[in-house]
Amino acid sequence: VSESAAKLPSKILELMDGFRASKALFVASKLKIFDHLKDKGPLKAVDIADEVGTSVCGTERLLDACAALGLLEKTTQGYSNTDSANTYLTSDGEYSLHGYIIHSNDHLWPLFTNLESAVKEGSRQNHRAFGKKAEDLFKDYYHSQEVKQRFMAAMHSIAHLTARDVATAFDLSQFRSACDLGGCTGALAHELVQIYPNLKVTVFDLPEVIANTSYFQPSGQHTAQVTFVSGDFFKDNLPEADLYILSRVLHDWPDEKIHVLLSKVSAVCKPGCGILLAEMVLDDEKKNRSTALLQSLNMLVQTEGKERSGSEYQALLEQHGFTNVKIRLRGNLLDVVLCVKT
Ligand code: SAM
Repeated sequence: VSESAAKLPSKILELMDGFRASKALFVASKLKIFDHLKDKGPLKAVDIADEVGTSVCGTERLLDACAALGLLEKTTQGYSNTDSANTYLTSDGEYSLHGYIIHSNDHLWPLFTNLESAVKEGSRQNHRAFGKKAEDLFKDYYHSQEVKQRFMAAMHSIAHLTARDVATAFDLSQFRSACDLGGCTGALAHELVQIYPNLKVTVFDLPEVIANTSYFQPSGQHTAQVTFVSGDFFKDNLPEADLYILSRVLHDWPDEKIHVLLSKVSAVCKPGCGILLAEMVLDDEKKNRSTALLQSLNMLVQTEGKERSGSEYQALLEQHGFTNVKIRLRGNLLDVVLCVKT
């Protein structure tokens, strides 16, 4: 490295081009290139282009970029998946992130294109990104079967990947029943009953979601301990449980709505019962955790919510009689907070 090259602002240059790399990953995923390469020997660009139905020159550049980014391997025989592409980028792998990548391309990308307006106005940009007046965040997702399926697949991919970490952040063996409010496909619920075989989990979510959960159900032991109930957690009675779980739910809402939800949980919660939150928790000074701070921008462009710090969650929970608030920073996609009703 020459002296002048060493002086280049590499961090800034990397950030400046970061969107190009994201989009290359999104397009390769959307074209199912990683699926085409799965379990196959190296393939030439011309054969991949032929199978996918794309131009040879464009495909070759995309494949080269993906190889340089470490997503593919390139040899003289052609291109093949890396182990990590086989595990996370093919659409049918157990820990596939394909659903979240497609959601990022189709939904988050147009929203982030309007980040400037979101910052100027301090509000969500669904109307600009999708050209229609925003209703309720989730009604927007669920108005079409296709968008709903895409959103649920996105939630499922992250929830399944993080479920073990969330479920084992604390010893939950004293709880006999749990209710996962906004539990979506039941990915966390199924992991919980594997780890705590004496636990029964009710997944509570909007009727549109509950009607669509069968596609995501695993087979195997203890699955009968997971049941699904539909309802609106702001309006309807909540199922009885020893432990209420809110995973990536509070960050969707402003404080006023959170107070409505927590007061409902508090009203049904007996002393000794608890709440488990799974969120990206910000440090109190809001300066160190860039992934969580970028997630807060992600909330700005599409919701009325935000990411919060540990002390902000503690203050919200304590106002509703939940004390002994413990926080486990997991250092990846979700941190976990446990508290008890006194
Ligand atoms: N807990 C899941 C996870 O961590 O992957 C899903 C999180 S997703 C961001 C929020 C969930 O809350 C969605 O499944 C959504 O349908 C559900 N939800 C939103 N509003 C709701 C309401 N009023 N009543 C019940 N569920 C609701």
